[in-house]
Amino acid sequence: MTAIALDAKDRKELLARFLRYVQVDTQSDENSTTSPSTAKQKDLARLLAEELKALGCADAAMDEWGYVYATVPANLDGRQGAASKVPTIGLIAHVDSYHGTLGAGVKPQVIEKYDGRDLTLPGDPRQVIRFADNPNLARCVGHTLVTSDGTTLLGADDKAGIAEIMTVVAWLARHPEFHHGAVRVAFTTDEEVGRGTEHFDVARFGAGYAYTLDGSDIGEIEDETFCADSALVTIEGHDVHPGYAKGKLTNAVRVAAAIVERLPNEFLPETTDERQPYLHPYDLRGDVTKIEMKFLVRAFSEEELRAREDALRAIVREVGAAFPGARIAVDVRESYRNMATKIAEDPKVLEYAFEAVRRLGIEPVRRAIRGGTDGARLSFMGLLTPNIWAGGQNFHSVQEWVSEEWMAKASECVLQLLRIWVERSAA
Ligand SMILES: [Zn+2]
Repeated sequence: MTAIALDAKDRKELLARFLRYVQVDTQSDENSTTSPSTAKQKDLARLLAEELKALGCADAAMDEWGYVYATVPANLDGRQGAASKVPTIGLIAHVDSYHGTLGAGVKPQVIEKYDGRDLTLPGDPRQVIRFADNPNLARCVGHTLVTSDGTTLLGADDKAGIAEIMTVVAWLARHPEFHHGAVRVAFTTDEEVGRGTEHFDVARFGAGYAYTLDGSDIGEIEDETFCADSALVTIEGHDVHPGYAKGKLTNAVRVAAAIVERLPNEFLPETTDERQPYLHPYDLRGDVTKIEMKFLVRAFSEEELRAREDALRAIVREVGAAFPGARIAVDVRESYRNMATKIAEDPKVLEYAFEAVRRLGIEPVRRAIRGGTDGARLSFMGLLTPNIWAGGQNFHSVQEWVSEEWMAKASECVLQLLRIWVERSAA
């Protein structure tokens, strides 16, 4: 049986891929209504489609939305019992990077044989990735690490996931003796702005089960995401000349301030962690006549989600009573739901992932993501898609870093997983 391990050449290529991808600016834009939200995401998508072709995926192509799809055909040929019993496994990562931190002009810094020191980033010496503040650095002494130069994000979220999947595809091409079912690859756009599956064609993708490789630490498998809604609060004031405004003016700016002021401190993302819900005012624009405020609402259960939304409505009513001249509307929209309920309907997709981690000699860690993944939406669209770690740390920040070893282990985890699907399905 083929030993599943990346050799020195595989690892070198993995790192080279990662460095290549992070230098392509793929920042998404949450205020854009086009798909993809920024045309530059297609720059990386095009590159990936070409590289997949070069790795032997004859059907690799980018579609009009910037999604890349490709197939590694099964090579079972009936050798492992009925090849048709082995489901097609999907591997998914997103090309876009976080919209809130500069993603252009990334200059990746490679630190070989990390020795446990603080990492001062050369482009902005005020940016120091401190050993004491990053407990995972202690787990990565001796590893090859990659950071940005401190002036941009790195984009390990999710270019680490992309590089890991590409490395799996390359490894499979190099190891035809390794028997596996069909593998479908998808690289999506606009995950960071919550639109990563807007144009995802589950039927055309044709996978029985899938995994995202996105975020988090080595050994972590995630089958829970938040239940997520967004709330738009629109405040219409009444503007008159301020010199003659007495008793007439209703200032939307002050109404907005009153709403923010009343948010309970313990409801905020900066005061919550683990399984606590939050309510997060994150965007406010407008003027005296009209203000639009955007909120994220997040919780692990729908009951808690509704409780936070009810709290927001109650605050709005209270403020509305204090400003009778204002018209305030709350519009709540569903973003995604906790995928755990869906995955529990067919838990082997999760169990096999745990088994794959164990076969690497690592104790798997089951986690709930305080965020969402493309997998959350896909699980509700009929494709169960838990998440496997991609290794990135401090994501969305200029202090992002990633360990090459953790990336390599993610690729090996996927290869173990492909073997387990064959063993368990064809038996
Ligand atoms: Zn991500």
